[in-house]
Amino acid sequence: MDAEQLRECGHRMVDFVADYYKSIDTFPVLSQVQAPRGIYLQPGYLKKLLPDTAPSKPDTLDALFDDIREKIIPGVTHWQSPNYFAYYPCNSSTAGFLGEMLSAAFNIVGFSWITSPAATELEVIVLDWFAKMLKLPSQFLSTALGGGVIQGTASEAVLVVLLAARDRTLRKHGKTSFEKLVVYASDQTHSALQKACQIAGIFSENLRVLKADKNKNYAIAPQDVIAAISMDLSAGLIPFFICATVGTTSSSAVDPLTELGQIAKEHDMWLHIDAAYAGSACICPEYRHHLNGVEEANSFNMNAHKWFLTNFDCSLLWVKDRSYLIQSLSTNPEFLKNKFQASQANSVFDFKDWQVPLGRRFRSLKLWMVLRLYGVENLQSYIRKHIELAKHFEQLVISDSRFEVATPRTFSLVCFRLLPLTSDQDNGRKLNYDLMDAANLSGNIFISHTVLSGKFVLRFAVGAPLTEEQHIFAAWKLLQDLATRLLGSS
Ligand code: PLP
Repeated sequence: MDAEQLRECGHRMVDFVADYYKSIDTFPVLSQVQAPRGIYLQPGYLKKLLPDTAPSKPDTLDALFDDIREKIIPGVTHWQSPNYFAYYPCNSSTAGFLGEMLSAAFNIVGFSWITSPAATELEVIVLDWFAKMLKLPSQFLSTALGGGVIQGTASEAVLVVLLAARDRTLRKHGKTSFEKLVVYASDQTHSALQKACQIAGIFSENLRVLKADKNKNYAIAPQDVIAAISMDLSAGLIPFFICATVGTTSSSAVDPLTELGQIAKEHDMWLHIDAAYAGSACICPEYRHHLNGVEEANSFNMNAHKWFLTNFDCSLLWVKDRSYLIQSLSTNPEFLKNKFQASQANSVFDFKDWQVPLGRRFRSLKLWMVLRLYGVENLQSYIRKHIELAKHFEQLVISDSRFEVATPRTFSLVCFRLLPLTSDQDNGRKLNYDLMDAANLSGNIFISHTVLSGKFVLRFAVGAPLTEEQHIFAAWKLLQDLATRLLGSS
């Protein structure tokens, strides 16, 4: 590494990135790779534009920048665009960006405390700060038996706690009980749980996917969980894991944590809370009630990389009793032994024992920088602003009788649809698909969809850092104009 070369090239890259952000709203939000026009027509477009083999001699940075502009950017979907409203947000910020830069500079691999003490210790401190911001019960703090750890994604978070819960139950019932283990969730739970079950070896027929309650905005109905558990118990099975969601992926539904906590407690089951998206909102006192009941949870997860200005990836997982994670995931090979390794006599954490991989990045830096450079009050305002913008969008939908809001908004996601002219459901599906497709192909906005109660529904999630009121109005105007065109031709 030549420091002067880094300085020069680094400045150029920062200029490039700053210019990118400055002009981000001039790019089509959704990559036009699949658009029915232009050069970037088809999947595989890049293979046609780049050589088959790596260059044998070094290229220049200028040549690279040319390729980035001409070949890479056209194939990028601009998640940071103010007109990005699809899926859930994935925030970037100056603070998060700088944290990523510093993390890349140190480029440590902090699997044990000794491999970079600051990395482990900052992670412990920042996760304790965050737990306090969310008002998680004190058992989740590192000073008690629990603690927080940064995972790459919510999928990894649910996997590691499922493994911990599985092994805890097997220690109680014996290893031969494996095939009896049952997991409970709703049909609105993220597919990450299904994948975790597949990896953890939970029998596919033992994942109870209970139909969410349409009348409760698609939250799980506790009486359905009780009924399913009681049937399973009478069949000699072992209920061991409930996955609750605060802010489901389709519609931001909030499962009833207090009731699920009581059920879990009664049957000595592990309760995991997936608040990947909506957890961020719970730093605001007025939204904190969505976490009421977390007292009975064994683990809680939220993605700071979704709606918390922290660049991807940064998924925060807290457990009430870290020993379960460590029992399931620790290894102690000779080549990693050191005099500071985690043990009862030693108060250090070796985070390799709280996750699937061995190696881990210095991810706490960017979260620490976000927390310090914004401060909690500004972060709360940031969340509130998006929720206000979503409220405006919801009002706009309500004010046009050709549309309906599909389920009441809870956070910054609005689920809505264009009403078909006939009651034929297929018509509604095609109509709304065409509306979404036309909006996305216009390049002006990017929205996504889901299906609720058999109806094809459009999702408008506010949460990109640069989104302002003008973007909401422009998006709505586009959707209205397209609706007029589609209804006119249907
Ligand atoms: N859980 C919920 C509620 C989500 O909305 C998502 C993704 O949007 C996930 C889990 C999966 O997130 P990840 O990509 O971090 O695994």
